[in-house]
Amino acid sequence: MTRRWNGWGEQDTLYPLPESAIQYLQTHLGTSETIPEASFEEVLRSVPDSNLPSHPLISIEKEARLRHARGQSLPDWIEMHSGRISQFPDGVSYPHSDQDVHSLIDFAQNNSVHLIPYGGGTSVLGHINTTQEQAPTLTMDLSNLDRLIDLDDSSALATFESGIRGLVMETQLRARGYTLGHFPQSFEFSTLGGWIATRSSGQQSYYYGSIEDLFAGGVIETPIGTLQLPAFPASAAGPDLRQVILGSEGRFGVITRATMRVRPLPEAEGFYAVFFHEWEEGIRAIREIVQSDIPVSMLRLNDAQETETTLALSGKGHLVAWGTRAMGLFGFGSERCMLLFGVTGLSRNSGRIRDLVYGLCRAHGGLPVVELIGDTWRKSRFLTPYLRNTLWEKGYALDTLETAVSWKYVTSLAAEIKATVQSSFEQRNEPVLVFGHLSHFYRDGASIYITVIFPRSSDPEITLLRWKAFKGPVSQLILTHQGTISHQHGVGRDHAPYLKAEKGQIGYEILSTISKTLDPEGIMNPGVMLIDERYRPLKMVSTR
Ligand SMILES: Cc1cc2nc3c(=O)[nH]c(=O)nc-3n(C[C@H](O)[C@H](O)[C@H](O)COP(=O)(O)OP(=O)(O)OC[C@H]3O[C@@H](n4cnc5c(N)ncnc54)[C@H](O)[C@@H]3O)c2cc1C
Repeated sequence: MTRRWNGWGEQDTLYPLPESAIQYLQTHLGTSETIPEASFEEVLRSVPDSNLPSHPLISIEKEARLRHARGQSLPDWIEMHSGRISQFPDGVSYPHSDQDVHSLIDFAQNNSVHLIPYGGGTSVLGHINTTQEQAPTLTMDLSNLDRLIDLDDSSALATFESGIRGLVMETQLRARGYTLGHFPQSFEFSTLGGWIATRSSGQQSYYYGSIEDLFAGGVIETPIGTLQLPAFPASAAGPDLRQVILGSEGRFGVITRATMRVRPLPEAEGFYAVFFHEWEEGIRAIREIVQSDIPVSMLRLNDAQETETTLALSGKGHLVAWGTRAMGLFGFGSERCMLLFGVTGLSRNSGRIRDLVYGLCRAHGGLPVVELIGDTWRKSRFLTPYLRNTLWEKGYALDTLETAVSWKYVTSLAAEIKATVQSSFEQRNEPVLVFGHLSHFYRDGASIYITVIFPRSSDPEITLLRWKAFKGPVSQLILTHQGTISHQHGVGRDHAPYLKAEKGQIGYEILSTISKTLDPEGIMNPGVMLIDERYRPLKMVSTR
């Protein structure tokens, strides 16, 4: 199987859309232009010669450098598809051991080379992109660090090398009767090290916890030496250094191993759907579920537009039409919103928890519907990202925005983000589909996740301008309306300009100081997360 070089996932995995879904898109977004695409061979020809001195662990082969040049953000897709990738890494290394990682960091320090740790390359914020011009760049692909090192049954702790992909790790755990329970939608390709480095959240974070709850300890190779983080169940010995590594985005070193809190496989798991008359009704129900500690494993409340779009693109036209008519009899109209929830754990508790949620939703006006909807979500949960390839081929670009905010601001901020996106397109008289859902919940608040779909232009610069026209204003809006610049995707390059405003001067200084301490030469993923001025122009190393 070959992974797509300029899109999501395996080349052979497709997400065909039925004619009715295409008509739905055309009705909302218009028909798209025919847009020429750059071929792999054309883009390969644009990869320049490498500026790295030779090293036995480094490949300067152009194909590897092209395949590691960009991630999965919309600007990345625009660059890859148009063949306008502005910069490529000068080399790619594939370490097999902590010792290899160590010697590559030494090599980078001694030769003033910038080093980008690379997990699965699924970043949506430019985390793994080469952009620095003043020094050669080495991408360190950690995919060969993919072993299970230890499974401590009595403590339910599993130690893995960091480059292991989610799907592979979960398969290995399942074979031994365990699960990590961390299921980001990128699960097929994203890696353990990448999850830790970006503070990722999985779809069932409500039950299993986000990565910060699962990460018990690890090993980090930094430019000044090895940092060991022992796996204590808890500790009052000063601030917790694990929190420093969580979200460090390759700036503080390379995570080579991680000890994770795993659980026995659940006896039972089911996913169910409930419809509400409108979004506010659903929010009230969810808040009560969360604040009364009902142990569901997942909650996801779509707004009316996401509900409609999901049903329209599902390809189950007749069933949806029948369901819509039936729900109309109960007063559910165009503002209806769908809640999906999961129940995971002991079989003897499952039915009771499901019925508790149904009862509470009914009390708020909700209507439980056929289990087919929850089942369909479960089956397609990791396939949905492939839809982005199909949309792109049909002429539409897709981007997502996310934040977290306390309950007091959830409704207003979600509405304002959508209005800001909408108005950026209206100003140019261009169509857009913008919708959202809430999918990670806390007693004090929730994450907001917004999807934006709009027509691409035959000119990639114009497509990029359409993206910039809403991305900047929405990021500002989030910061000024009590939201965090990211709940789960991290900072990367795209959010770096906003981090100082969120952390404050002193908070930002603390992070910069950690970076300067662990990485005095400033070689680790510069420009990601922190924008600081300490990078003196490094001397160029040339083999020519
Ligand atoms: C379709 C799609 C769906 C997604 N769904 C989710 C989701 O549900 N939840 C979620 O949280 N995110 C999601 N993401 C975002 C992305 O998958 C996460 O940010 C993920 O954690 C990145 O992991 P990765 O292994 O691909 O890391 P990469 O993209 O390779 O790297 C990300 C950052 O981590 C650093 N890094 C990677 N490995 C290491 C290491 N071993 N040591 C030090 N630094 C390292 C890199 O330098 C970089 O700064 C999604 C992305 C896509 C494209």
